[in-house]
Amino acid sequence: MATQQTAATTIATTQESKPKEEKQANCLSCNKPIKKLKRYYRDGKFYCSKKCWRDFLAKSKEEKK
Ligand SMILES: [Zn+2]
Repeated sequence: MATQQTAATTIATTQESKPKEEKQANCLSCNKPIKKLKRYYRDGKFYCSKKCWRDFLAKSKEEKK
């Protein structure tokens, strides 16, 4: 028995330009992407942890001085 396999590969290239999300996706302190499960919300901004939030506050205070 000889079975011939004809692999018909159709390459469909669909280029869809998705609009970039304007939502904040990265931590303001360490700039790492924030996962939905681990995120720390403070003052309308997202951070990946409370530590990053405090770091960001410390940085912003230093910049003001
Ligand atoms: Zn962070």
